[in-house]
Amino acid sequence: TEEILLKSEKVSLIGDLAAGIAHEIRNPLTSISGLVQLFNESDPEKNDFYKEIILTEINRINFIVSELMVLAKPHAVYFSWFNITESIQNVIDLMQPEANLRNVVILFEKQERIPLVYGEKNQLTQVIINMIKNAMEALPNGGTIQLSATSSDDNIVLSIKDDGVGMTEEQKKRLGEPFYTTKFNGTGLGLMICFKIIQNHRGTIEVESLLNEGTTFRITLPLHSTPNIEPMKVDSLNELR
Ligand code: ADP
Ligand code: MG
Repeated sequence: TEEILLKSEKVSLIGDLAAGIAHEIRNPLTSISGLVQLFNESDPEKNDFYKEIILTEINRINFIVSELMVLAKPHAVYFSWFNITESIQNVIDLMQPEANLRNVVILFEKQERIPLVYGEKNQLTQVIINMIKNAMEALPNGGTIQLSATSSDDNIVLSIKDDGVGMTEEQKKRLGEPFYTTKFNGTGLGLMICFKIIQNHRGTIEVESLLNEGTTFRITLPLHSTPNIEPMKVDSLNELR
């Protein structure tokens, strides 16, 4: 059930991405403009109700835009040598309170002396955050997330395993497509961003998943090749076509 997901074709379809963004933003805008027209001075209670929905819709647009900013913020890109296991531990510490609330146990097993990674620390941390978030969301009744970090002469391998809802073959095929989500409040941008970031570090992401059994994402990062130096310019998507 192992599949290598090199989604450069998908991720790079900038036209699809633009169409998706337009669609995702137009929906809440349509609803906002409809609600504004319903405002009525003589019914303040209804107005309050409309205001609530309008704020929710605005927040949704804001959230989508902030997720997309990861792709469009070249000035924040800074490559360095860093300890990725420390970054993983920091993410775990950050997410621990939410995990506790959800009855999720996060375990992290790391091989001694993992070599430093040369990469964009914020972006690689973002990948870990997105993956752990997805794992938590795949565990509606709680469960376990197992993280591991190992290395060989050539690579570092990070894995994120959950014993959650899992995926069908069909779902698995669509991973990394912009705006593909099975969640009521999902954006379907998290994994697309992960694929893009790992691709720019010349790494790969593999997934193993069985419905109702769980999912494992495995990220392999090469130790001896330099990342693409201008990774997040939307322009660079074109080159991958
Ligand atoms: P979102 O989380 O907003 O839905 P993502 O791009 O992060 O967007 O994920 C896309 C879809 O991939 C999810 O909606 C879900 O169907 C599937 N998915 C991702 N990670 C997991 C996981 N650990 N277990 C089960 N399904 C997952
Ligand atoms: Mg997600």
